[in-house]
Amino acid sequence: MRGFSTRAIHTGQDPDPTTGAVIVPIHATSTFAQDGVGGMRGGYEYSRSANPTRTALQECLAALEGGRHAYAFGSGMGASDTLLRVLLRPGDHMVIPHDAYGGTFRLVDKVLALWGIEYTPVDLSDIDALRAALRPATKAVWCETPTNPLLGIADIAAVADVTRSAGVRLVVDNTFASPYLQNPLALGADVVVHSTTKYVGGHSDVVGGVVVTSDDAIAEQLRFIQNAVGSVPGPFDAWLTLRGAKTLAVRMERHSDNAEVVAEALAAHPAVERVLYPGLPEHPGHVVAAKQMRRFGGMVSFLVAGGSEAALRVCAATEIFTLAESLGGIESLIEFPAQMTHASVAGSALEVPDSLIRLSVGIEDAEDLVADLRQALDAATG
Ligand SMILES: *Cc1c(COP(=O)(O)O)cnc(C)c1O
Repeated sequence: MRGFSTRAIHTGQDPDPTTGAVIVPIHATSTFAQDGVGGMRGGYEYSRSANPTRTALQECLAALEGGRHAYAFGSGMGASDTLLRVLLRPGDHMVIPHDAYGGTFRLVDKVLALWGIEYTPVDLSDIDALRAALRPATKAVWCETPTNPLLGIADIAAVADVTRSAGVRLVVDNTFASPYLQNPLALGADVVVHSTTKYVGGHSDVVGGVVVTSDDAIAEQLRFIQNAVGSVPGPFDAWLTLRGAKTLAVRMERHSDNAEVVAEALAAHPAVERVLYPGLPEHPGHVVAAKQMRRFGGMVSFLVAGGSEAALRVCAATEIFTLAESLGGIESLIEFPAQMTHASVAGSALEVPDSLIRLSVGIEDAEDLVADLRQALDAATG
């Protein structure tokens, strides 16, 4: 198999056969001419069902995750919703991480629950807790690693051993790691989901999602429901996401370099109670993360001494880190999960600490990022 960046730049992206265009065109068309009824050129009929720009993106992302099939969606949540419609029926049960992404929790708890889906939140770093949560009706285990926003680590191969022997499907939301740092299918997962809004797109300019699998039966149903439900990306969005994916490897190396420097600087600051970064040797998931990830990625969370008020002051005081939701772009972002990304889990089993700050460390110069955080912490807590 070719290397990661070669696949990112070439898979699904042969020069255009009609013009020689080196870059896959934005096929801005809703429909395709037929040569006689049913005489489709290249299999295209209508852009909800398939569009060549989307096909290029799907082939590229399948190759990056080492899967046979990929389906792109208009958002990560659109991808997750379609996947869960494939895997679950009314009366079925699923396991979700005890600190799942807030939007995933909301989808399961507020939407799918109305269609008779039951769930149990479990700390997936605890394999005995996972075994204990499985029921005869359990059809899927949803795993995130690293988790959002607590950067918890689950051992994907160990979770896959449990799900395989129980006959349960394992889904890994691989958004935080990106396909460059971690490939869950190779570790035993059945399906991988990404919010491509984050690292895959990488430039904070487009929302999207993808589902990747090597299971032909799941793939066939994904294709059917993708078309039946229709939460697909348009060709402009597919093109921007594909453009981002080409540089994923170089960006992830730099995100990881910068996050390591930031995590160490935070750990040394007196106003920081605890740094949550799987690259730090004292992180409880460090050994597992080192085994299953190429590097530790660009997400760093930390607890501020002085509680929520101090944390809010830090968020207001940074100059380079922009106060905003989302993550995975080239620019550094700071956010306060308890009232922003994770407001939807307040009062639930998934509630996050209110002195927690989450950073998406960008690819600016590391010295500038560290200086910005130092001045904000000094100003907010000094
Ligand atoms: C952002 C995110 C999602 C949802 O993706 P959207 O593109 O925002 O719909 C799902 N999982 C994780 C881990 C995320 O960070």
